[in-house]
Amino acid sequence: MSKSKSMRDLYVELLEDSYDSENQITKALPKLAKAATSPELKKAFERHLEETKGQIEKLNQVFASLDMKPKRKTCEATKGLIEEGDEMIEEKDELEEGVLDAGLIACGQKVEHYEIASYGTLCEFARILGFKDQQKLLAAILKEEKAADEKLTQIAQSSVNSMARAA
Ligand code: FE
Ligand code: ZN
Ligand code: FE
Ligand code: FE
Repeated sequence: MSKSKSMRDLYVELLEDSYDSENQITKALPKLAKAATSPELKKAFERHLEETKGQIEKLNQVFASLDMKPKRKTCEATKGLIEEGDEMIEEKDELEEGVLDAGLIACGQKVEHYEIASYGTLCEFARILGFKDQQKLLAAILKEEKAADEKLTQIAQSSVNSMARAA
């Protein structure tokens, strides 16, 4: 068997995975925002939706810099994580007050952690392959994902979790 897949090929596949992931996430965040009861949490999901649209723009620039058209390769992991979010929302009538928000934060943070892993790898691949401008774009996305994760932790610790425990 001939071995023909290079590091660059793998990099492109991972980019296509993340490109699909972000597109899936733009469909999921409005559902999370709608389901959230805490206004602060609602706002955080809405703000990250706008950021996510910007991330798709950044990925478009990465593909352009590779002289490629953006392409989606189904991200099964994101699909699964979003399904878990959907299940949480479906369960909402059975959850005590505040518990739904705690569950939505848990789902949101699993997505952010997946993205942090993905962009951490992509940044390093871009560095190793010598794609400086792409590395910058990917590092900017990584920073946003980390900030989104930290924001969710902050909302959980400052309000949502204590409300859920008191219910
Ligand atoms: Fe993202
Ligand atoms: Zn993925
Ligand atoms: Fe994946
Ligand atoms: Fe994100």
